[in-house]
Formats: sequence, structure tokens, C-alpha cells
Amino acid sequence: MLDQLTGNERVKRLLKRILEARRVPGAMLFTGEDGIGKKLFALEIARALNCHSPLGAEGCGQCPSCVRTGKFNYPQSSDPDDWEEIIWTDHADVGMVVAPKRVLKVKQMRLIEREANYRPYEGKARVFLVEDAEKLNDPSANALLKVLEEPPHTSHIVLLTSRPDMLLPTIRSRCQMIRFSPLTAEEIETHLVRNKIASANEARIRARVARGSLGRALAYDLDAFNEQRKAMLRVLQALSVSEDRIQLLRSAEELNDAKYKDEYESRLDVLETLIRDAWMLSLHTAEESVVNEDLLAQLKKVSAALDSRRPAGWISQIEEMREQLIVNINRKAATDALFLTMAAAAPPLQRRRFVP
Ligand SMILES: [Zn+2]
Repeated sequence: MLDQLTGNERVKRLLKRILEARRVPGAMLFTGEDGIGKKLFALEIARALNCHSPLGAEGCGQCPSCVRTGKFNYPQSSDPDDWEEIIWTDHADVGMVVAPKRVLKVKQMRLIEREANYRPYEGKARVFLVEDAEKLNDPSANALLKVLEEPPHTSHIVLLTSRPDMLLPTIRSRCQMIRFSPLTAEEIETHLVRNKIASANEARIRARVARGSLGRALAYDLDAFNEQRKAMLRVLQALSVSEDRIQLLRSAEELNDAKYKDEYESRLDVLETLIRDAWMLSLHTAEESVVNEDLLAQLKKVSAALDSRRPAGWISQIEEMREQLIVNINRKAATDALFLTMAAAAPPLQRRRFVP
């Protein structure tokens, strides 16, 4: 059932209308960030089309057909050759292709074409997902176009991508595009707590750093996260309590350490949540609104030394630098400059806590 999925209420309404009208397009393009449930929504369409005891126009989620639809038989090895086949679910009519390496192959598109031309084996419709469709190159896109042009009426192809701009216009124009939105932090938090995936405190942290993606919230490594918080708390302390520029430069260096290459963005996220917490505390907001509850004592010290006019500036400085990084400026130099700018944000006399 679509209602059991998290977020994207607008998409749910749209898909329900499509299912009720029995007008599921032969070619669809689901766009939106990674980890927001595009694949799960596509599987709900497959369930609805093949369910043995549908509820209204939707799949029941309980019958053998619905249950089997959710189970992909991924190859056991990481050998790229094994990933060039269709990855079938336990349902003989529902499968997916994923890029074995960086690109989706012509061979995979030909397999979809061939399979899409067969009548359904056990259900009423065949559904094929193309994961990370932005990995289609010109030859594979052209091979896929053949089947997108005239899919047999019992076959449906759903392309999933976070980068629709990278698809050929001819592919986009043949698909019904459905845009997914990032989830709200509240939606993610509720999902984690309701499904007993995380404690309330942990769920809140995961939701805040997930930037709209449930996948990112789930994949988050909490040990690494705690390390990141320690490191970013040192930055915040050096900015407020100790005004220690040497520490700031040391932290900037650490942030650029090759060891933490993949954590750069998430460390900045963490720094932003810590800044927001200290800011809230300096404004005497209720302690419950603090995200990093377990660091309350340290954050209180920071907030006591903080001019409450500064955090807003810090956050916009961080955001500004992130935008610059997109156009690829030198990250090391940018981080040094960022921390020193943040340290210089207020003249010395105003560094004491601001009392309105
Ligand atoms: Zn069912």
C-alpha cells in the first residue's frame, strides 16, 4: 500500500489516481534524490498490477504475489559480469537492472526489450526498473529507446534517477515523469521511531543529518558520527570559548585529511547542527529543541560564551562556502578561510554574550 511508505504524499495521490484509472504508463521516469523511496514506490505499482486480492486499486502487500515482488535476488558476487543480467525479484514478472560499473550496458537494455515483449508469466503485468538511469550512455540509451517507444501494453518500465538532466531528451520525452521531493526531517524521524530502527534521540540526529533522504539517514554510521561531533565541537569551542585560532587551523587541516575525504559534507552538517543548538541555548529556548542532547553540558558552555548574533552569520558563511565548492574551488584553502572568517565575525568587544 502506498500509504505505508514514508513521505511524498503528492506522488502517492498521483499514483493512486493513475492506478484507479488503470492508466499506468508503459514508460515512467521517477526523479528525486537518492534514498527517498523511488524504488519502493515503483514496487508498489508492480504489486498493484499483479496483486491476487487487491485493496481498491492497490496491492494488498500480503498475498504471495505482493510479498515476492519485494525480494530482489542480487548476485552473490561483485563480479561485474554477474550484474549485467536482469536482477529478478522472487516474482517472475518483476525485475531490475543496475549499472555493473559506471554505465548501464546495451546488453542490459536488450534484455529488457526481450523480456518486455514476453507476456507475463504469473501476473497480469511485467515491470522493469532501471536503477540510476543517469548511467545510460548514448548506445544504451538508444537501445532502451526502442522499447520505450512502443512498450507492449502488459509491460511497464520505470526509470529511477536523481539526475534527470543527464538523460537524453528523447528518453525523457518518452516517459511520464514523476517528481519526488526530499523527505522532511519530521517524516524521517517518525519513520525511524515508528519502525523501531532508532531511539528517539538517535532518530532525531539521523533525521537532521539526512538532508531529506531516508536512505542517508539509515546508512549513517553513528560511531563515525560521534567522532565527527567531537571534532566539530572542538571547532565550535575554538570559535567561542577559547578563541583559539591555532585549534581552528588544526581542525581545518583535519577536515581536509584524506582519511575523512568522504565525510567533508557530513562534518559540515554536524557543525551546523551544533551551531544551531548553541544558538538555541543562547536564546534560552527550551532544551528539548537541542538536537545534540547528549552534549548539552558542553553546548551550554559554548552558548554562555557566545554572542547570539554570531551563529546566523556562521551558518550563512558555511552555506556560502558550500556553494563555492560546487564550482570547485580549492577545498583546503576554502576551509582555512572559512574558519578564520568565522573567527573574525565579531569585533573583540562584542564577543561577550549579547544581552538584549
Ligand atoms: Zn497482494
